[in-house]
Amino acid sequence: MVKSLPRRSEVPAEETWDLDSLFASDKAFDEALHTLEQEVAEFQKQFKGNIQDAAAVVEVLTSYLALLEKLVPISTYSSLSLSTDQTNDEAQMRSSKFGSVSAKMSSQLSFVTSELLALPQETLKSAMKQSAEFEVYLKDLIRRKPHQLHPEVEKTLAAYSSTFSAPYGLYNTTKMVDMAFDDFEVNGQSYPLSYVSFEGDWEAEPDAELRRTAFTAFSNKLKEYQHTTAKTYDMQLQTEKTTSDLRGYDTIFDYLLFNQEVDRSLYNRQIDLIMTELAPHMQKYAKLLQKAHGLDKMTFADLKISLDPSYEPEITVEESKKYINEALGIMGNDYLEMVERSYSERWIDFAQNIGKSTGAFCSSPYGNHPYILISWTGRMNEVFVLAHELGHAGHFYNANRAQNLFNARPSLYFIEAPSTMNEMLVANHLLQNSEDPKFKRWVISSIVARTYYHNFVTHLLEAAYQRKVYERIDAGQSVNAGVLNSIKRGVLEEFWGDAVEITPGAELTWMRQPHYYMGLYPYTYSAGLTISTQVSKRILNEGQPAVDEWLEVLKAGGTKTPVELAQMAGVDITTEKPLRDTIAYIGELIDELVALTEEIEEVAK
Ligand SMILES: [Zn+2]
Repeated sequence: MVKSLPRRSEVPAEETWDLDSLFASDKAFDEALHTLEQEVAEFQKQFKGNIQDAAAVVEVLTSYLALLEKLVPISTYSSLSLSTDQTNDEAQMRSSKFGSVSAKMSSQLSFVTSELLALPQETLKSAMKQSAEFEVYLKDLIRRKPHQLHPEVEKTLAAYSSTFSAPYGLYNTTKMVDMAFDDFEVNGQSYPLSYVSFEGDWEAEPDAELRRTAFTAFSNKLKEYQHTTAKTYDMQLQTEKTTSDLRGYDTIFDYLLFNQEVDRSLYNRQIDLIMTELAPHMQKYAKLLQKAHGLDKMTFADLKISLDPSYEPEITVEESKKYINEALGIMGNDYLEMVERSYSERWIDFAQNIGKSTGAFCSSPYGNHPYILISWTGRMNEVFVLAHELGHAGHFYNANRAQNLFNARPSLYFIEAPSTMNEMLVANHLLQNSEDPKFKRWVISSIVARTYYHNFVTHLLEAAYQRKVYERIDAGQSVNAGVLNSIKRGVLEEFWGDAVEITPGAELTWMRQPHYYMGLYPYTYSAGLTISTQVSKRILNEGQPAVDEWLEVLKAGGTKTPVELAQMAGVDITTEKPLRDTIAYIGELIDELVALTEEIEEVAK
């Protein structure tokens, strides 16, 4: 049963993460920020106007890298301390202050790229020869040259950077601070509702009346804020469009994909194939859910229920460790040591409290250890969530040690591969260790209902919606709540066909996703999972050699493009094959669920 959430101050310390390794106190944070401001000013004095030859390029980049390394713990502390309680005034103020100071610093530092790009290419190439460490950074810089503006313009734009990122902050404030949910009532009894409890509990509530009433109450509250949220989102979109035009990109898609180092065919294929080829499998899954639950009809509010809610093992944080260790053991001792430390050194924030960010994420500050945010409700499927976030942690635990700060982060396209890989490892481990049809069905339905649903359905439907939104923006139009609702509804109806009734309120789903403030992010989930599905099959079939190759991919960080990284792990994403194989695999899993359900029902007769 859903309980009301405690305040952050009431949560036991052992359920929270320990930010001490970043800064031991708010005061230490303030001092570090102040010192950094002075160092940036000195750096500017020393280097501005003085980058003339290859030796100077190496020298400035060496100092620049050192400055950026100092910035990492400061920005991480500022955002992490806010993420666990967005209603905390101090954390809000700290984050705003950091936003304006860092905008000022990036404006002061913008001369670095401007001056480097003003140099002849031969000078940059000879700097690459002098220091291999900066090769990736300089190559990328040269790639950006056609889109670089006049140094004074770059400086001005950088000074406005916190204003340009304001829509995201505004979105979060509306969602996490202003939006307060009233209790809802069923049969005279009232139940508490919040963003976290809706997404963490009510959506999966087995009782249809409670679940559907919670959905209606949740949607009604969203609706009150739809116009503000749509306006905020439009502001984000118009800023991106203006930037894209000013920097001379052909379309907003080319601008947004530029950083990802993938071309439009990879982007479009992911969305097109899933909309057409995955839809029939998922419709079959929806019908299976409807039948298993004896529902009069299948509605949008019913899609997150588990196939067999009577079989949802409960699990404590302590117990989760055993499963995680066993499942990820295949990754080797170094990896397991990281897992061990993540529990014992409190890298993970498990608590559920008012004002905490929804969902789960992992932050991996360079030079420090990763941090994971999750809201632990005690359902077994949270083992998958935790394994996922530990996948991000394991990625940067490896990449950050093997690469410098410039080279550690790969394209967004690849980001969700190591995380979803761990979900596959958990599933494979659980399946190998049980012959009980009920447990097997639970595991497979967890992969389908969580891993594939989340990455291939939820995020992909967002991506399909987002593509339509950007097409509109690219044509010089704007959006409002009415437009967004109708695009969202259209995408949902197209995908689910007549298998699922798209109930009123479903069209507001676009309001729930912070990813829309991060460019073309949603589609990358399915891209990452396509790669990890194929690699996890290799690990299952080939064992150690496939694991070793995967660890090398993690260590490569951002030194290679997504196509090259996938190639290193034996997957060719320049063709449709990996995606088609993955969709076919999802189809097989759903068929297996149908068969296991028949088998279980047969025994029960
Ligand atoms: Zn992730």
